[in-house]
Amino acid sequence: MSVGADPRPGLRDIEAYDSPQLDVAVRLNTNECPHPLPEDFTDELAAAIHDLPLHRYPDGQMRRLLADLAAASMHPVEGVWAANGSNEILTELLQAYGGPGRRAALFEPTYLLHSRLARLTHTEVEHLALPRNFVLGDAEVGAVVAASPDIVFVCSPNNPTGNAQPLSAIVAIAKALPNALVIVDEAYGEFAPAASAQALIATNPNIAITRTFSKAFALAGARIGYLLAAPEVVADVQRVRLPYHLSALTQTAGIVALRHREEASALLGAIRVQRDRISRELRTLPRVTVYPSDANFVLFVPPVDAGAVWKGLLDRGVLVRDLSTVVPNALRVTAGTEPETDSFLIAIKEVLAA
Ligand SMILES: *Cc1c(COP(=O)(O)O)cnc(C)c1O
Repeated sequence: MSVGADPRPGLRDIEAYDSPQLDVAVRLNTNECPHPLPEDFTDELAAAIHDLPLHRYPDGQMRRLLADLAAASMHPVEGVWAANGSNEILTELLQAYGGPGRRAALFEPTYLLHSRLARLTHTEVEHLALPRNFVLGDAEVGAVVAASPDIVFVCSPNNPTGNAQPLSAIVAIAKALPNALVIVDEAYGEFAPAASAQALIATNPNIAITRTFSKAFALAGARIGYLLAAPEVVADVQRVRLPYHLSALTQTAGIVALRHREEASALLGAIRVQRDRISRELRTLPRVTVYPSDANFVLFVPPVDAGAVWKGLLDRGVLVRDLSTVVPNALRVTAGTEPETDSFLIAIKEVLAA
């Protein structure tokens, strides 16, 4: 016997989203930027917030933020949209292009939120598989074209595998499925700018790119994501968006952060150095498989039980992500500061030698 109101059918088969953050010294489990934005960002933000008329609704059209994003991205402003994290952008795209009777295809292993958000918007999910090297090829393009979905998700660079996907595969999908929306999730795009699908939008208006301030931009706490797409896609998103969905506080954080984007970009090089150091050092360890990364994290498969390795690292104050339910026996480690990376490398060597 159930108690209380009945939710929609199937809802209670879905677990609440929870990403518990353990209180350890070195947290390398959520792919955040290890460096905060500089102090003058915080000072400018405080001053800008001080002057906000918070008794009024914010600018629902987010004019200033969208204009600044358009300028920073070199994309026409009519094709730019922002929301509370790219997760909200993805939800809005699913509300507009998915929904009951509609299907979204994705290539596993990939970002878990794509299938989760599809389910929450009543969009059916078609799970296709990446090949063993995780790189989209002709066979995968053929499979998704044959499936003829309404939405295709491509995550590039892909979380959790780390590799960017070839633009030739993205174009082939977009051209073969001209009525489907091809969503390219570029949450880690700043780490692999040459792999961006942005230049394809002009000739393939069914390609939409989502980006975020949460990773390279060192602003996960502000919850800002954005969309680069054809103007028609942005117009469709406007039909489903909530009124005033992006608070004046968040819009202001985005505007001020964009003024500091040079400093944020300067951090990218340092993060790539630590990422490459992690890959190189892990490859020297016996029987460890290391996947190539175009992002700010590295996926690897230890020669012994991943759960035990995860625990051994935690006992040494280092938190990584156990992805063994997604890729057999795999762990994912985020590139941290140099001292954080030192801690990880010392700990993993100890754990695997034990
Ligand atoms: C981290 C991540 C995001 C970020 O989502 P936000 O809501 O912008 O914080 C989106 N896509 C992928 C693949 C990610 O790994």
